[in-house]
Amino acid sequence: MNQPRYIRLHESDNVAIVVNDGGLPRGAAFADGLRLTGPVPQGHKVALSDIAQGEPIRRYGEVIGNAVRDIVRGSWVEESLVSLPRAPALERMELATRVPAPQPPLAGHTFEGYRNADGSVGTRNILAISSSVQCVAGMADFVVRRIKDELLAHYPNVDDVVALNHTYGCGVAINAPGAIVPIRTLQNLALNPNFGGEVMVLALGCEKLRPERLLPAGAIALEQERPAIVTMQDERFTGFGEMVEGALALARQRLEVLNRRRRETCPASDLVIGLQCGGSDAFSGVTANPAVGFAADLLVRAGATVMFSEVTEVRDAVQLLTTRAINEEVGRALIREMAWYDGYLAAGEADRSANTSPGNKAGGLANIVEKALGSIVKSGSSPITGVLAPGERASQKGLIFAATPASDFVCGTLQLASGITLQVFTTGRGTPYGLAAAPVIKVSTRTELATRWHDLIDLDAGRIATGDATIETVGWELFELILEVASGRKQVWADRWGLHNALALFNPGPVT
Ligand code: CA
Repeated sequence: MNQPRYIRLHESDNVAIVVNDGGLPRGAAFADGLRLTGPVPQGHKVALSDIAQGEPIRRYGEVIGNAVRDIVRGSWVEESLVSLPRAPALERMELATRVPAPQPPLAGHTFEGYRNADGSVGTRNILAISSSVQCVAGMADFVVRRIKDELLAHYPNVDDVVALNHTYGCGVAINAPGAIVPIRTLQNLALNPNFGGEVMVLALGCEKLRPERLLPAGAIALEQERPAIVTMQDERFTGFGEMVEGALALARQRLEVLNRRRRETCPASDLVIGLQCGGSDAFSGVTANPAVGFAADLLVRAGATVMFSEVTEVRDAVQLLTTRAINEEVGRALIREMAWYDGYLAAGEADRSANTSPGNKAGGLANIVEKALGSIVKSGSSPITGVLAPGERASQKGLIFAATPASDFVCGTLQLASGITLQVFTTGRGTPYGLAAAPVIKVSTRTELATRWHDLIDLDAGRIATGDATIETVGWELFELILEVASGRKQVWADRWGLHNALALFNPGPVT
């Protein structure tokens, strides 16, 4: 049985998306009586009412364009019938003019987390080894192997040890304006709540990025009595073996402290959740991202911090975000980050290449506004309470825009620096993406992918398209899964297999 089905994402929408495999023929009748006047391919739009020439076409509750000519109810709203609205210039955007009313608080949801001295709460108990320069990456890996092989078993409450390896620290213009981004990213990475505040740094000795800059202020003061830095060129070491022993001694001190950490019941408001997508397809904006948006609203209602990112994927719908800013200052911060990225791309003689791809259009996306709407829908419907420049640490609750490139690895690294303790990742094509520092819940847009990648995908949002679930039910499932994974009661597939991507710093500054 192939009952004709469509998905309408907002009550004010006058178009909906056909979800049946292979599309639907002329005459197909939906359960509500709507009948197709002609064939409509899968993922494409059908008019839910008559739309006169010049009238707005609404999807996601927003105008994606105007009707180029009269469109009758039940007909295919193909790409050529939708005019492309002009993207408003950044300097003329409305700020905080449509701030969503607060939704009712969601009380009573908790998770078992590791509370830190600074008030933050981790979802994992991990020893992180920072480094001030790429030159020591090999030693960091060596030390991590030794710790895993010889030490970790003696500290049963510690989940893991990770090296925060990167490609920065020397051979770079350390005083260039763009250098602030990788430097604060490294500083804030070490402070991720999953690391318990127990910072240690491997250094070479001659690098431009001084290792002291990676320590929090309190640790620098303690450097004499409780050293946190091991420097390979330190003359007290004779040979590599002694350097390793020096690093292991510091690691033991930190493992002792971390091993005393215990999970305790924490309100869901202590969660810091990052949202990202990668390998998107036509259903991303129909199934997975709306379900993630629903869960994001639940998290915000529960008082948590939720951050979404990926500048190049929100740029063409940013006028819909500036109006959702909680106040004009936050709206201006959003504009600031968009303008900075426009300049960054222009300096590289690139633009945001905003045009939808042939694959997007074949999948039913009429234009870039519709594409960007499909991406930002994962931000839900809450007011935007804050904006972070790349690598800045979040200090506020609610929905935050953390400006990052859309690159999965750079976005993941920057969100970790901003303090996420768990990430939700939606994918249509499929990717084995994972982070060593925080669990990643992967949500598929289609059931076919979730079935084929049954041991890589954690949640199937494709059931929304097949009618086996709704945005609300999958959103609630994701919310509950976040609490389970954050509590350590459930393991995501990437962690079960140990699939973890390398960190990738965002360095907009020159390399020398
Ligand atoms: Ca991405």
